[in-house]
Amino acid sequence: MSRIDLHLHTTHSDGSFSAAEVLRFAHKAGVTALAITDHDIVSGIPEAIATGAELGIEIIPGVEISSCVGKTELHILGYCMDWQDPELSRRLATLRASRHTRNPQIIERLRSLGLDITYEEVRTLAGTDSVGRPHIARLLIEKKYVTSAKDAFDRYLSEGRPAYVARELPQPADAIAWIRAAGGVAVLAHPTWAKVSGEGLNTLLATLKAEGLGGIEVHYSTHSKRQTTEYLDLAKRLDLLVTGGSDFHGITKPDIEVGTGLGDLKVSEKLLDPLKKAALLAHHS
Ligand SMILES: [Zn+2]
Ligand SMILES: [Zn+2]
Repeated sequence: MSRIDLHLHTTHSDGSFSAAEVLRFAHKAGVTALAITDHDIVSGIPEAIATGAELGIEIIPGVEISSCVGKTELHILGYCMDWQDPELSRRLATLRASRHTRNPQIIERLRSLGLDITYEEVRTLAGTDSVGRPHIARLLIEKKYVTSAKDAFDRYLSEGRPAYVARELPQPADAIAWIRAAGGVAVLAHPTWAKVSGEGLNTLLATLKAEGLGGIEVHYSTHSKRQTTEYLDLAKRLDLLVTGGSDFHGITKPDIEVGTGLGDLKVSEKLLDPLKKAALLAHHS
């Protein structure tokens, strides 16, 4: 049985490899279908489709939208949507604009801590409109202020650290609605971020489902066996689709590989058909 990978980042957001390079890694890992899910942007999809056609890899249109409930950041994955939908493009552009409000504030804080960096340098290094903290981390590594992306987050960029700035994010219900309006299926990414388990997670998922959530990312690079089992049970209980992916980023998450995650990830191709069927239903409702 071949494997798939429905969660991958490229240089179109905070990944360090192009879509074509990610697809070549996928090909080597025996991945037969994948979704490029860059943060708040879909511009990597055409390159993925072109390379996918060459390598015989099926491309599922994808995106990952950041949202929050109170202080908890939740990421909503969108699949099988019409990624060229003009309304979706407009909404994603608005989200990216909010990144350009936050990032200069982070840079200001770093400068006030004595670090000599500018937002222009970060934007040049990023080379994309979907600029995020991992790009800032990369510049800090280049300038030898930190030794790794983890070091940058631990010392400066994570919540509670001196250069942390909260970002205005949409509610999950909005992200879900935007994906559905473009004919896609909305899936809760890496559910550990919800910081609740058991009944708490059940309640959260039931709320999100009432708001239109279609699935949950059960298989994920850093999930323990116990977590995978818990999420699988919740998906069954709430009649949610099951998805999975590595969340490959390249150098900012150096241990995670396309298709295999930390080594033992295997997402079954059997998960694809239910996802596509749900998207078809969304299109016709
Ligand atoms: Zn995420
Ligand atoms: Zn991701």
